[in-house]
Amino acid sequence: MPNVDDLIKIIEKEKLNVDKDLVRKAFKFADDAHKGEMRASGDSYITHPLATAMSLAKYHLDQDTIIAGILHDVPEDTERTQKDIEDRFGKEVGKLVEGITKLGKLKYRGIERYTENLRKMFIAMAADLRVIFIKFADRLHNLKTLDALPKAKRERIALETLEIYAPIANRLGIWQLKGKLEDYSFKYLYPKEYEKLKTDVEAKFSARESLLKEIREKIIKALKQEEIKYLEISGRTKDLWSLYKKMQAHDTQLDRIYDVIALRIVVESVADCYNVLGIIHSRWKPIPKRIKDYIAQPKPNGYQSLHTTIFCDRGKTVEIQIRTQEMHLTNEYGIAAHWHYDEQGSIQFEKDIQWVKDLTKLQKEIKDNKQYLDSLKIDVFQNRIFVFTPKGDVIDLPEDSTPIDFAYHIHTEIGDKATAARINNQIASLDTCLKSGDMIEVVTDKNRKSPNQDWLKFVKTRAARDKIKMKSKKSVWDTIRDFRK
Ligand code: MN
Repeated sequence: MPNVDDLIKIIEKEKLNVDKDLVRKAFKFADDAHKGEMRASGDSYITHPLATAMSLAKYHLDQDTIIAGILHDVPEDTERTQKDIEDRFGKEVGKLVEGITKLGKLKYRGIERYTENLRKMFIAMAADLRVIFIKFADRLHNLKTLDALPKAKRERIALETLEIYAPIANRLGIWQLKGKLEDYSFKYLYPKEYEKLKTDVEAKFSARESLLKEIREKIIKALKQEEIKYLEISGRTKDLWSLYKKMQAHDTQLDRIYDVIALRIVVESVADCYNVLGIIHSRWKPIPKRIKDYIAQPKPNGYQSLHTTIFCDRGKTVEIQIRTQEMHLTNEYGIAAHWHYDEQGSIQFEKDIQWVKDLTKLQKEIKDNKQYLDSLKIDVFQNRIFVFTPKGDVIDLPEDSTPIDFAYHIHTEIGDKATAARINNQIASLDTCLKSGDMIEVVTDKNRKSPNQDWLKFVKTRAARDKIKMKSKKSVWDTIRDFRK
């Protein structure tokens, strides 16, 4: 049975700046409060908040979040109150626990509940992003122990995870967690398919194990010769749910998918990434068209790495992924990988979470559930691209956005008066689909009165669509007014 020492061990191993005595105190408080309470699995209740806090420590979250993780079910399930927590552990911890308690009340059922859940999640996120991390860690442990629950409840939780939690984790760039959330849900929603794929992938991995080991050793030797330091070289298998979806989408078999197994190399600098790629290509032949430079051209969701698939002996192929430690952390932990305290001592995440704030606006504006969901699907859950202004500012937009979406994102007036666009210094039509890394310049005509209504046929963002429509209404009134003059 895990106990508080296991949590302390993680804090020490990850070198977190956390008061261990306070962690012990919180654990004691929660343990006393939950005394006698059991999980459906028959374990004592405290195993759950402890596991939640352990995940939070693994994700390098701050002291308040870890403590709130230990205490997150206290007000809902025990005699102890919100106030008791605040008195002992401070306002910040109190607020985080309150946020979680509020989220806990909703159950997933039908579209109304679904959108209501999403709204609540986004309100909580906008108030403090850490609440969502606690909720993720809480859900992760609940998924791990789903076996103890009746089938219908298991499926409800798994479905809710796939439809709500995983897309949010994806959008926050926490792909490691997203993969875990999805794979646990997969297991309960499609048990047969899950078991089969898992067995097949494991078989494939063990069949390749000696080959991977051999390649790994050759690479280590070559890196020594070239005096390139590496931090990690290890094999990994693709997450099962994303593999399953890929097979379904392309209607294909496991053998035909190249990236089921990959060797991952983590080095110190971007220059080393390219050097390692060169070293590998000088020893093994790469498969043409399988060389991907996601460092120079990050994936729409921000993922960075170099990928290549090489031919090994006996006609076998292996994918190699090369990245820096920083890219690795960002790829695994997303927004959780980069936070710091500001001068006021409150936590700041480095990546812009403007979209979370936009969402709180959105949920006030749109009351219709279906419409709300549709705009969420486009503005939030769709993959994003990252493009540049001529000054080098990064703008993030939904995939397939056009120069008009970009223009309205910058300023309403730039959108209204747009006449042409230059993408990477080349004249491009206003309906061109932008790609990550593009630099966009919008050409405006200051005499232009209103936007072209035809743009509605291709714009992607709700902001652009709304503004174009709004202008069309206004221009009718303008016409009438002009007429009366
Ligand atoms: Mn819980």
